[in-house]
Amino acid sequence: MVYVSNQMRTEELAALDAAHHLHPFTNGDELNAKGARVILRAKGVTLTDSEGNDILDAMAGLWCVNIGYGREELAEVAARQIRELPYYNTFFQTTHVPAIALATKLAELAPGDLNHVFFAMGGSDANDTNIRMVRRYWAAKGKPEKQVIISRKNAYHGSTMGGASLGGMAAMHKQGGLPIPNIVHIGQPHWYAEGGEMSPEEFGLMRARELEEKIAELGEGKVAAFIAEPIQGAGGVVIPPESYWPEIQRICDAHEILLIADEVITGFGRTGNWFGSQTLNIRPHIMTIAKGLSSGYAPIGGSLVCDEVAEVLNGSGEFAHGYTYSAHPVAAAIALENLRILEEEKIVEHAGTVAGPYLAEKWAALADHPLAGEARSIGMMATLALTPDKASRAAFASDEGTIGLICRERCFANNLVMRHVGDRMIIAPPLIMQPSDIDVMIERAVRSLDETYDKVK
Ligand code: PLP
Repeated sequence: MVYVSNQMRTEELAALDAAHHLHPFTNGDELNAKGARVILRAKGVTLTDSEGNDILDAMAGLWCVNIGYGREELAEVAARQIRELPYYNTFFQTTHVPAIALATKLAELAPGDLNHVFFAMGGSDANDTNIRMVRRYWAAKGKPEKQVIISRKNAYHGSTMGGASLGGMAAMHKQGGLPIPNIVHIGQPHWYAEGGEMSPEEFGLMRARELEEKIAELGEGKVAAFIAEPIQGAGGVVIPPESYWPEIQRICDAHEILLIADEVITGFGRTGNWFGSQTLNIRPHIMTIAKGLSSGYAPIGGSLVCDEVAEVLNGSGEFAHGYTYSAHPVAAAIALENLRILEEEKIVEHAGTVAGPYLAEKWAALADHPLAGEARSIGMMATLALTPDKASRAAFASDEGTIGLICRERCFANNLVMRHVGDRMIIAPPLIMQPSDIDVMIERAVRSLDETYDKVK
């Protein structure tokens, strides 16, 4: 038997990993050729890999470690909960204290009357719940033909069949016969890439009105819901023009459809408020949550649901839906402790009034780099378009994403995790970053941009 430990050499670990571990969103040939980077531990905003490098994590893992790494309190809560009640389910009229406590806390934190929660293990399966829930809602209201969910191109809503169908990622739809029926997509409010000669505000309005056109085309009687991320994350941190969300809200109010805000990334402080819906003044009927809910310390997600939808669901017999690990007690206890830390240490306020504004100032200055086009941030998420021509906002002629990939590799070499989406560099660091961390991050980012520029100019 092979005994795998963190004392092994990197090459041995990477070889075993490549031999036995199928990775998400990873090119298998590259994995075999280069091996995976092995992360051993993390503290605060810093990861340590098996080569002893200390790497600044400007992505908070996958947009999730909002409170930063290494909080002992969460380990203690997890150990206590495992001793007391490691597992029980919430099916068949049963509950437990962590589920009750977390649901109650979420109702207190959530905006409007999102007073109810259906728990999942992450964002994808929470969005699957949403598909089933909105269809069940309309069926219970005597409108079973309201089935279609409208989403957007280049949206990301997860990797399950339902989540990836709701998403608008062309590369994902090409694999496995997606989208599933009754999910359709309209254009995204991505002015920088698609706005051409229009002003951002004109373009935002035009893209929002595609929703109204789609509802008219399908017939209001067929449409169940519209789903969108307040700010597209995996699509490249697409901050919509200011005209976009008010018009979407008007259209949703004017027509009989439910609005689902997918706040898997934008929830729990990421935009400088507890929820992106508050930052952008959106009033959803349902909100998808995950990631920052537990700061990634345990897999947990869910759907926050408004009073009206919950009443209809509760008043119409059994909703034949649920996951073995819905409201898992250990995950729920960890999430509750994470929310306590976010709240008591005023981490959301820190993101909104200290770290976010500081990042905004420093990030915007990156636009002066010869490779950079748009450089924007909102709260603690930011995007930087790389372009050969600032004026025309042109894309690089090379294969989609090559420049971004080079830049990401330079970042790794400079001990910085930044992600690339095509030729865009994006970040979503832990919310606890101090201005001094942001200075280090920007300094490494500039060095990586300079090195990328040397390779392509
Ligand atoms: N929705 C959004 C907006 C996301 O960004 C993600 C993941 O990145 C998901 C859903 C899927 O969440 P999970 O990976 O937890 O299933």
